[in-house]
Amino acid sequence: MPINENIKPLETHDMVIVGGGPGGLTAGLYAARDKQDVVMLEKLSPGGQVLSTDWVENYSGFPDGVSGFDLMERMKQQAENFGLKILNHEVSHVDFTGTIKILDLNTVSIMARTVILVTGAQPRKLGIEGEGLLMGKGVSYCGTCDGPFYRDAVVAVIGGGDTAMEEAIFLTRFAREVHVIHRRDQLRATKILQERAFANEKIRFIWDTVPVRVEGLTGVERLCLKNVKTGEESALQVEGVFIFVGTRPVTEFLNKAVKLDDNGFIKINRKQETSVPGVFAAGDVTSESVRQIATAVGDGATAALHAEKYLETLLH
Ligand code: NAP
Repeated sequence: MPINENIKPLETHDMVIVGGGPGGLTAGLYAARDKQDVVMLEKLSPGGQVLSTDWVENYSGFPDGVSGFDLMERMKQQAENFGLKILNHEVSHVDFTGTIKILDLNTVSIMARTVILVTGAQPRKLGIEGEGLLMGKGVSYCGTCDGPFYRDAVVAVIGGGDTAMEEAIFLTRFAREVHVIHRRDQLRATKILQERAFANEKIRFIWDTVPVRVEGLTGVERLCLKNVKTGEESALQVEGVFIFVGTRPVTEFLNKAVKLDDNGFIKINRKQETSVPGVFAAGDVTSESVRQIATAVGDGATAALHAEKYLETLLH
């Protein structure tokens, strides 16, 4: 049964991959190279979060590092060389109750014998006053995208993880001063990134502190802070506030069609199988993922190979 009665199903494919980050493109490469009838659905252009990563230096095979954009272009090109079809569509609903899975794409539906979910994760918001109002007017979730607007400016970075450190270091190319605000007195980021951030003269750390409000009329003017140990409040004059406090999975459209963990990430086993036979998941959208390009790529290959095995069982 199509989920939306007005929608005529397009075609039934052997495999549909939802999402075009490194995990999705690798699953697509494997499946297309194995001559499967495979289609990738991607709402924007393939690449995922890596597209907003300035420089990748921990993906094996690139001893001098590689830009996130170039790496994703190469992955896309490689998969397309083997015939992967990439369609620009966003999946709005799914029905995984039958052997044939239905994915609703707003105006049409697409049918699949197997599905690989690789929808990734998006930056989490802080949820503080002024954040939404000043988003795009000084509040940003991507240093690589917006950093060049902050030449000689003073900016704040919120968070103490790998993303916050990488982005803080990147922002020092433009900004005069980068204040890293972290809620504890120790960073979560890996040692190498910590060392680089501590060695950077433009970066100043404000420990045990959380932002409580972003203020400004037409753009960000100041960030109000609170020390979590003393309760003392202060204000920092900044032109930009860059927020890197983790990610949330893109799983709302699934409407619990597969089992999720408490944080909304998809539960999988070692074969990348979800709770629904024939539906697999890979990369950052999966529970307990360490959220690396390398692991997403590995997950994607595993998912494609097990999806192919599942397809064989349908024939017998
Ligand atoms: P993360 O590791 O979850 O770090 C989030 C940071 O934000 C933590 O320091 C956390 O503080 C802080 N935070 C969370 N909620 C907060 C709140 N409400 N208020 C204030 N601070 C808050 O997220 P991430 O840095 O985006 O990294 C995600 C994953 O991607 C990780 O596995 C990371 O290793 C990986 N990654 C890897 C690379 C790389 O290898 N080059 C680059 C980027 C990301 P606490 O520390 O107190 O929890």
